[in-house]
Amino acid sequence: LPPINGDFYHLGDTALNEEDRALQLKVRAFLEKEVKPLVNAYWLKAEFPFELIPKIAELNICGLTYQGYGCPGKSNVMEGMLAMEMARVDTSMSTFFGVQSGLAMGSIYLLGSEAQKQEWLPAMQKMKIIGAFGLTEPEVGSAAAGGLTTTAKRQGSKWILNGQKKWIGNSTFSDVTIIWARDVDDNQVKGFLIRKGNKGFAVEKMQDKMALRIVQNGLITLTNCEVDEEDRLQNANSFKDTAKVLRMTRAGVAWQAVGCARGAYESALAYTRTRKQFGKPIASFQLIQNHLVEMLSNLTAMQTLCFRLSQLQDQGLLTDEHASLAKVFCSLRTRDVVSRAREVMGGNGILLEYDVARFVADAEAIYSYEGTKEINSLIVGRAITGFSAFV
Ligand code: FAD
Repeated sequence: LPPINGDFYHLGDTALNEEDRALQLKVRAFLEKEVKPLVNAYWLKAEFPFELIPKIAELNICGLTYQGYGCPGKSNVMEGMLAMEMARVDTSMSTFFGVQSGLAMGSIYLLGSEAQKQEWLPAMQKMKIIGAFGLTEPEVGSAAAGGLTTTAKRQGSKWILNGQKKWIGNSTFSDVTIIWARDVDDNQVKGFLIRKGNKGFAVEKMQDKMALRIVQNGLITLTNCEVDEEDRLQNANSFKDTAKVLRMTRAGVAWQAVGCARGAYESALAYTRTRKQFGKPIASFQLIQNHLVEMLSNLTAMQTLCFRLSQLQDQGLLTDEHASLAKVFCSLRTRDVVSRAREVMGGNGILLEYDVARFVADAEAIYSYEGTKEINSLIVGRAITGFSAFV
């Protein structure tokens, strides 16, 4: 039988240079050997496999695209391919990694002072320090750009923060959490580096999530939380700066959607070749082949779109609307791919041990985070029509 390979247009084996291809295969082998055997058990318990952190650090892929500070300085194409590899095995692990390497390190890399970059990035690259990114609030999700209610009040060399943040990935154990708050004096959004153990900073683990169960999401309460001016992100002056981070990470989320779809497609294809009904492998039935080809079409469209997206990023041409279009398209198509994967597996499609059920659930989280379909569509709509539908 032909090999099972969700990279139908050969991006990995023809578009990467030798060194990057070797890294892709090394990361894939690591994920298959070290991560895959653990994920279903941790997913079920809704716990995080901390033993994997030093092993992931050893791959030297954290902060992959950043220049300096011990970071590898590789291309965005490569970073996207690795996000896909991670999500292909487990979308929770790729989300944990995306928060660390993208949202948290990216905020410091893009918006921190030189001293802040020197202090945090080398240790975060080695994953000795784990970060989180707190933007969303219990009452403010999509409207974060203009509506944050968490406040920051300057008092001499300190700031006093009050408010709540919901859904904050990694925050139950993070060493540093970036909190976005509205400065009550100039009404602009600013970013603050909150160190673990800071007084007035309390995190409660969110319970009973039905997707990305390995990711530890926290509900954060800030009660007169004091932060030194030195720990304010020195180059974050308004939400426009926050959006620079989201532009970069949304591209990564689009790649994660590809990985989730690829994992589901490859699992389903393998299953249909061995599962027999009516005396024949179900893969030989026309209606099953139609599902598989629909899945592969979507998957291939997503991969090639993301590849081009990352090339634009490498060329310094990526815009918010480029990233939003890819996030919308991929998270929507992924839902279709995973549901067909579940369908061709019959009853086993809802059993955790066959992996596809986990991909189905996790696709729902990708669909909502880093901007819902509606919000990313409105970002693209604004760009192509010239009219903003945001209030
Ligand atoms: P709402 O904003 O309440 O939206 C509800 C519905 O209304 C959606 O369908 C939305 O599209 C629609 N809607 C809203 N406004 C409009 C409009 N103008 N026009 C049309 N439709 C509209 N946040 C962080 O800060 N850090 C994290 O680490 C993080 N991790 C997350 C992990 C997971 C698993 C999840 C699910 C979320 C995470 N989030 C995180 C939050 C995430 O970014 C938000 O859930 C997301 O932005 C949507 O906000 P909301 O859930 O409040 O939905």
